[in-house]
Amino acid sequence: MKALITGINGQDGSYLAEYLLSIGYEVHGIIRRSSLENAQKLSNLRGIMDRIVLHPCNIEDHLALYKLVNNVKPDECYHLAASSFVSYSFDEEATIISTNFTSTHYLLSCLKELKPDCKFYFAGSSEMFGAAEEAPQDEKHKFNPRSVYGISKVASYYVVKNYRERYGMYACTGLTYNHESPRRDYSFVTRKISVGIAKIYLQQMPKLQLGNIQAVRDWGYAPEYVQAMWRMLHNPQGPKDYVIATGIAHTVQEFLQIAFAVVGLHYTDYIEINPQFFRPSEQIPLIGNASLIQADLEWRAQKPFSEIITEMVQQDIQTLSGQKP
Ligand code: GDP
Repeated sequence: MKALITGINGQDGSYLAEYLLSIGYEVHGIIRRSSLENAQKLSNLRGIMDRIVLHPCNIEDHLALYKLVNNVKPDECYHLAASSFVSYSFDEEATIISTNFTSTHYLLSCLKELKPDCKFYFAGSSEMFGAAEEAPQDEKHKFNPRSVYGISKVASYYVVKNYRERYGMYACTGLTYNHESPRRDYSFVTRKISVGIAKIYLQQMPKLQLGNIQAVRDWGYAPEYVQAMWRMLHNPQGPKDYVIATGIAHTVQEFLQIAFAVVGLHYTDYIEINPQFFRPSEQIPLIGNASLIQADLEWRAQKPFSEIITEMVQQDIQTLSGQKP
């Protein structure tokens, strides 16, 4: 089997590539040309570089994508690449809508022409529910995105749905809630905290500045979420959209307590609240109801919250110091 992954050097792309290699796939990845020349951007792929094929390509360039798809002819395509910056300001980052939407549409249109039996996974997001009406949210909950990113994901969701219903393609969307790991991007609060603790522990930084620590999230473990993606492309019922989540709510404060305890410290001694990092908070928390994927595909989130956090903190200390705590 041959898989094509967009965003292969990101957190999810790299775990997915490892998983697919472990079950015997030939793995191809699309990557920005500039990332190919930047060792830092390839760091997640360190362990598998010699076992994957990387294709430099701009996913907004229809002709380049067409040639690439014609060359690779994948059996499965996982579209994970996106500008993932969650902006609530419509003055900034307006291009996210077009970038994220266009790439989904172009990929599907190329596959329809060149490899219509290729199965297609689209990385949706809990941000699509935005200002939700109730918690937890399931697949039937109405979309009400409040960020540019969320809008771009909803627009793509409908393109995917239309290729499935009009052209009969095996195309589906996973509505993933936050999922973390030692490869999480530094812009997310979990990684900001784990790196911050590593620096505090190693006496490289005195305090960590954060925004609203009462904010609530449904945090899962990224390596498990990529297996849900694969299962969705092997669904005996055919292509179907699913919520991928733990269903458990935690606050940033709970994350902090556990994370600081890993190094025997208490978070209140090392945290400064900075209004600069405050965001409009949700009235109703984004918590996913993943009972459908559990019933249909026997997937459920397993790694406990405290173990995810411990792994992240220990990994960051190890990376920054070259030794385990
Ligand atoms: P996302 O908002 O779900 O994309 O994920 P983040 O990890 O960026 O944020 C999760 C929650 O943590 C949000 O409700 C933020 O308001 C809250 N938060 C509190 N302090 C911070 C901070 O310093 N940085 C970030 N990124 N989020 C913070």
